[in-house]
Amino acid sequence: MNQAVQEKPAAKRKPKETGVPDNKKYLHPLMTKNYGKWRYHDRPRPGVLRHVAHSGDQIWTVRAGTQRQMDVGTIRLLCDIADKYAEGHVRFTIRSNIEFMVSKAEKVDPLIAELEKHGFPVGGTGNSVSMIAHTQGWLHCDIPGTDASGVVKALMDELIVEFKREEMPNRVHLSTSCCEINCGGQADIAIIVQHTKPPVINHDLVANVCERPTVVARCPVAAIRPAMVNGKPSLEIDETKCMCCGACYPPCPPMQINDPEYSKLAIWVGGKNSNARGKPTFMKMVASGLPNNPPRWPEVNEVVTRILRVYKEDARPWERMADWIDRIGWPRFFEKTELPFTKYLIDDWRGSRSTFNASTHIRF
Ligand code: SF4
Ligand code: SF4
Repeated sequence: MNQAVQEKPAAKRKPKETGVPDNKKYLHPLMTKNYGKWRYHDRPRPGVLRHVAHSGDQIWTVRAGTQRQMDVGTIRLLCDIADKYAEGHVRFTIRSNIEFMVSKAEKVDPLIAELEKHGFPVGGTGNSVSMIAHTQGWLHCDIPGTDASGVVKALMDELIVEFKREEMPNRVHLSTSCCEINCGGQADIAIIVQHTKPPVINHDLVANVCERPTVVARCPVAAIRPAMVNGKPSLEIDETKCMCCGACYPPCPPMQINDPEYSKLAIWVGGKNSNARGKPTFMKMVASGLPNNPPRWPEVNEVVTRILRVYKEDARPWERMADWIDRIGWPRFFEKTELPFTKYLIDDWRGSRSTFNASTHIRF
């Protein structure tokens, strides 16, 4: 008999599981014990949730805001606080809050006092202004036009009271995005960079630094073409097509778009991701051309706090920003907030499907 036939087939390699890990091993033991058996939950005070199980067990969740981008010392401090009050169990929410799971009522107030002592405000639950979601910025991304976390810090210094109280008509989610691609997603109020001029090309550097096909492919509206300039291979931009998104800058640094004067900030309102009470909505731009003015961004701060103040006074209970604007209409929104209206705002342009570069093929 053929020897190859007698040999046992090699054991098949098992697939490696790379999906979401099983969360049970990370949960507080009380949560694992009562998983799926909760009777109700309530909020004894802003920043604290209490879950009551059918078994009679209770667990308190204390939510605190963080600065999102944290050094090791801060993370160690938060872990020490978790060991002391929460049997070592914490989790982070998508808006960079930290939540401590506490099994005894008498530990809740000391935990809050300790968090506040170290500068972590407790709040962000219910109808409050959430911590601001912000995009990666200078730390992890290659195209930011501003320091998203700096805008967050400047804004939250103003809004900390609204984070710690639950006095808004409904929850208010805020986000900041450091380029027009806006990986910050939808929010009730979003602050987004707005480049107002196409990139300026340094033709002497393009041939040395840049991979031209990569740059050409990167443009979402096919506005970049290879070109010979002064006898050297370079690029040119069709400025009638360019929408100033800034995506070409990373593969080609000689195409500089960030500009102290022409890179601005815009405010968008009325976005929401959830299906709760109404379908998800896209936000619309209501203020543009605000100066990108570090370190405190006072002009942005003024517009955001003004919109929030009017929304708080005028919206009915449980109306999200988009519901409120739907009810009163855009003309009333601009009247009430006293923001100047131009034809470029609340754009509902539908032409993107035919003009966006939706494939990876290079087109000229
Ligand atoms: S918003 Fe733009 S620049 Fe900022 S992290 Fe996202 S993709 Fe990068
Ligand atoms: S990638 Fe964006 S900024 Fe660059 S040319 Fe295209 S549209 Fe303009």
